[in-house]
Amino acid sequence: MPRLGVLGWPVAHSRSPAIHNAALAHLDMDGWHYQRLPVPPELFEETTRALGPAGFLGANVTIPHKRAALALADRASDAALQIGAANTLTFAADGTIVAENTDAPGLIAALERSPRGMRALVLGAGGSARAVAWALREEGASEVLVWNRTPERAEALARELGVRAVAVPEAADLLVNCTAVGLEPLERSASEPEGLNQLGLAFDQVGEYSYVVDLVYRAGCTPLLAAAQAHDVPSRDGLDVLVAQGALSFQLWTGREPPLEVMRRAARGEEASD
Ligand code: NAP
Repeated sequence: MPRLGVLGWPVAHSRSPAIHNAALAHLDMDGWHYQRLPVPPELFEETTRALGPAGFLGANVTIPHKRAALALADRASDAALQIGAANTLTFAADGTIVAENTDAPGLIAALERSPRGMRALVLGAGGSARAVAWALREEGASEVLVWNRTPERAEALARELGVRAVAVPEAADLLVNCTAVGLEPLERSASEPEGLNQLGLAFDQVGEYSYVVDLVYRAGCTPLLAAAQAHDVPSRDGLDVLVAQGALSFQLWTGREPPLEVMRRAARGEEASD
């Protein structure tokens, strides 16, 4: 029975099992199953090396293992190497582990428009910010700016990836939130402007961007998406990006065309209509 899963710590909140199992069921891939793999950092390498022999064909990788996943792989794509992180592992028949990063092309696919020629501002300097800044640069954004709460991390990222760190969020065409701000429900993470303040943004400032993406996903709206909607700025949420990166991983492992609409409905907990 071919097995798939998502390695993370914690991973209980992940929507990936729902997304992938809905796709497997839709394509009548009987016997395939995608499961959560809660693994603490100290057990990551040992557990991951045991997955191939245990019948796993592939695994997604999430917080906090993306760098470790790249480090243990026998082979890695240029994208994963340049980003410095992997979110997709494939356990090959010869026992080797292959690392890929589908976060970067997933972001581009979720945009539904090319960032070519756009000035883009990335908020955050963690693992997802690295993938997003790299993807936007590769896709021909005219300029990629990076802002982070801890400026030294933005400067280091900018140096490594050849983009520009900024001390305050500047105006741009595209705004992508790659911080964890917004994970807390709106009622508890304080008022909208206060939630935005953690991103260095004022409420009205959000209206100056042409397109807003928030990688954070959870039930309800994040402060950033609420502000974008209030200003009629088109936006994409974290589930759109999660589905896009998951679909690319699914295709890599199974060789099948991912049923995107089925995966989108599953991500949002909607009943399948077929
Ligand atoms: P990470 O490597 O841990 O980075 C976290 C980032 O958030 C850092 O830049 C950190 O700033 C910033 N941050 C955390 N709390 C903050 C606060 N209160 N105020 C301002 N900045 C704060 O995490 P990651 O892997 O990049 O993930 C970031 C978020 O994206 C998570 O919520 C994750 O769930 C989401 N994500 C979604 C997808 C998707 O497919 N939708 C994919 C990947 C990640 P400092 O450097 O100052 O600490």
